[in-house]
Amino acid sequence: MNCEIIAVGDEVLTGDIVNTNAREIAAGLEDAGVRVRRQIVTSDNPAEIRQTLAEAFDRSDVILTIGGLGPTYDDITRESAAEQMGVPLVRDPETERRIREYFTATGRELTDNNWRQAMIPEGGEALVNLNGTAPGIWLEKNGKILVQLPGPPRECLPIFRESVLPRLRERTGQKRVTRSVRIFGIPEAAAESRLHDRMTASRNPVIAPYVKDGEVEIRLRAWADTEEAAYALTEAPAREIAAEFGDHAYSLNGESLSEVLVRTLRENGLHATAAESCTGGMVTAAITSVAGASEVFDGGVCSYANAVKAGLLGVSEETLREHGAVSEACAAEMARGVRKLMRADLAVSVTGIAGPGGGTPEKPVGTVCFGVSTPDGEYTLTRHYRSQGSSVRESNRTRSALEAQFQLLL
Ligand code: ATP
Ligand code: MG
Repeated sequence: MNCEIIAVGDEVLTGDIVNTNAREIAAGLEDAGVRVRRQIVTSDNPAEIRQTLAEAFDRSDVILTIGGLGPTYDDITRESAAEQMGVPLVRDPETERRIREYFTATGRELTDNNWRQAMIPEGGEALVNLNGTAPGIWLEKNGKILVQLPGPPRECLPIFRESVLPRLRERTGQKRVTRSVRIFGIPEAAAESRLHDRMTASRNPVIAPYVKDGEVEIRLRAWADTEEAAYALTEAPAREIAAEFGDHAYSLNGESLSEVLVRTLRENGLHATAAESCTGGMVTAAITSVAGASEVFDGGVCSYANAVKAGLLGVSEETLREHGAVSEACAAEMARGVRKLMRADLAVSVTGIAGPGGGTPEKPVGTVCFGVSTPDGEYTLTRHYRSQGSSVRESNRTRSALEAQFQLLL
């Protein structure tokens, strides 16, 4: 079952009002197993509304309109939709009674045009609106379902939650689960091209990539009669996607890099530590944000100044002089030094040029060196991030902190 959401109103079209209703409605529909095919915003112009509705009825099973159910002359969604369904509007005595009651209760004066709101399409059903006068509308005809909701969120959303969503849920009989495979160290475009065929071929689960702070999250959404069955549908694709990306796929069920790192360290009975220059403690903060981090992490060193790198971590004057603080040589000594200082099993170091200033032709902004020290050996690596724009510093730091944790995980 698929659906189009049509928000009607010049104020939404022009950006005076944000289409906040659609956000909850779309998420609710998807959750109920109704696939949202399009979201449209249209003006109050009758011809526009008619054309938009006609196209939507051609394409989709459920057409849900928001707004334009009010008493004023510009509220014509109801009329246009009834016309499209080929049914006349008829008076609904129950709604008339409610409108009278509402006006009495709120002490407001009833005007003639208020009665327009008691007109609903023949064969349709008025959906009770406890927060206003315009009822919602539910109409089924020729295999199509028309749902109409008033615009004000405090009227629209309660009707949607209480009268629309349960019916659609019952109709589809579907439960949805969302699961994500998280991947680090593969650019989005590369991840996308490796998954392209799988993504376009698979309808259940639906597979789509999202970029998050330098990571790629592959989201799988599946529908079935029960949550267990829906989850089972994601199992094989999630494993296949993970296999495609090898070590880069660090989580099959949405766990963050820090969570996976802490869990893995705990499972292996290992303690880790970090020496951070350009990230200034972000690695430490990320690890300690995970509950239970104390079992695997005693502390780290924020060695921003060279004096701290030398004095506390034992980075040699010669290394700093010959290679500079942003060098693999320095990163190696930082990692070695902090591992000794913290008596940890594993150590990672980060030293780089976060920007926006401070770059040189040899070491441009975004050059970041990492060192890893373990009892079995050491290695270093350099990344060249090419972040642009006003958030270059934050972006370089965030990516560096993720990379450092990823290296600890490997
Ligand atoms: P009313 O009886 O209040 O006229 P209505 O169904 O005719 O209700 P509209 O006139 O289209 O609804 O919109 C009324 C108000 O509801 C708008 O001015 C706006 O503040 C809000 N609104 C309308 N559509 C949306 C939307 N899609 N998302 C969020 N708010 C909306
Ligand atoms: Mg209105």
